[in-house]
Amino acid sequence: MPDRFKTIIEPFRIHSVEPLRLTTEDDRREKIKAAGYNVFALRAEDVLIDLLTDSGTGAMSRDQWAAIQHGDESYAGSPSWFRFLEAVQRLFPFRHVIPTHQGRAAERILFSVIAGPGKVIPNNTHFDTTRANIEATGAEALDLVIAEGREPQRIHPFKGNMDVAALENLLAKQSADVPVVFITVTNNSGGGQPVSMENIRAVRAVCDRYRVPLFLDACRFAENAWFIRLREKGYAERDVGDIVREMASYADGMTMSAKKDPLANIGGWLAVNDDDLAEKCRNLLILTEGFSTYGGLAGRDLEAIAQGLSEAIEPDYLRYRIRSTEYLADALDRAGVPIVKPAGGHAVYIDARSLLAHIPPLAYPGEALAVALYETGGIRSVEIGTVMFGRRPDGSEAPAAMDLVRMAIPRRTYTQSHIDYVIEVVLAVAKRASELRGYRIVDEPPQLRHFTARFEPLAATR
Ligand SMILES: *Cc1c(COP(=O)(O)O)cnc(C)c1O
Repeated sequence: MPDRFKTIIEPFRIHSVEPLRLTTEDDRREKIKAAGYNVFALRAEDVLIDLLTDSGTGAMSRDQWAAIQHGDESYAGSPSWFRFLEAVQRLFPFRHVIPTHQGRAAERILFSVIAGPGKVIPNNTHFDTTRANIEATGAEALDLVIAEGREPQRIHPFKGNMDVAALENLLAKQSADVPVVFITVTNNSGGGQPVSMENIRAVRAVCDRYRVPLFLDACRFAENAWFIRLREKGYAERDVGDIVREMASYADGMTMSAKKDPLANIGGWLAVNDDDLAEKCRNLLILTEGFSTYGGLAGRDLEAIAQGLSEAIEPDYLRYRIRSTEYLADALDRAGVPIVKPAGGHAVYIDARSLLAHIPPLAYPGEALAVALYETGGIRSVEIGTVMFGRRPDGSEAPAAMDLVRMAIPRRTYTQSHIDYVIEVVLAVAKRASELRGYRIVDEPPQLRHFTARFEPLAATR
């Protein structure tokens, strides 16, 4: 990479294109109303720039499409399974790898075996499906991110770090109730913020003292490794694969969604060192997902993941990936839009509670902002706040720690001009922020309500 020029280009060119359908604002107002003001209920065709998630929405490479042609669909022991297994273990050398159709299946299997009533499972910040799968067993999901991680505007190089003292306190009191400690890299629900190697090491040391295993929720392991390379002393020259292997070396297992950093459209896995645990998990896998050499995936999916894993750790790709997210964040920050700082790896998070300070958390400022971004510019984002996390297991409702709106950037999918358009739309919405109104929920399911809840705008208070 010639470093004479400062523009960091997309390290690929376009080989196959997908059309985007342009819509009008009137059109979009109608569509979102019909969707009960829930962006999950929109038809994707009615969305112009889809930043709902970076999950499974990335563009596959020529080499991944080629690998798909090598997919072997044998029920048991397919060569595609062995290619997948090798690719996973090259980065995460755990003894047992259990393929699943996506990350939450790995979570459900693991927590059905090790969680349950009376158990507590700490994490820096639990992702929504992780929390839901833990709570579904009757256990408690506890967030122990450092204090800086809860302050959107506060700059810290590793805002995803776990509060090691808080973890030590918990384990000193009730280590017998803690079947596992989790660290999520990067910390998705906390702003896509990285966790330092030093922090992973420190958490490991505490886990060792109390003999509790440590697992990684490793969905964005490559982006986390790149942040370590950029920001942590001693890692600037290290190979990304080596950094990933070091992260894995402190853990006893992992859950994974291949729809994130592995650049695939579907897939996941659970990996563990413990033989007993692996056997129990495999038995559950066979019950609902599939045999242990495919776990609900087609052979071709296993191939795409295997190839994606090697592309995910390429320095040119990661440099572009992290910089393109930062490009969006920098532009919003310069214009005074409150965002979580510094930029996360896969997404930019607008601090809706601060931008829409006139809307109280229980009137869902994040929801109001997400709807406005869609109506104004056809951008689909997602609320990560009181709608997503405000409902407690006992049925009561309380404000979440933060009310954020996440704009996740699909991998290798949008160009810089798409992002320039997004910047223009966000600034237009921010300009008339004081006119936006809150929402109320008219219908919601008992769990993971953000996916299917229906909303109504509140009447103007003025
Ligand atoms: C996406 C994600 C999951 C769940 O994975 P799915 O493939 O969506 O089921 C778990 N943890 C984190 C941090 C994630 O980002």
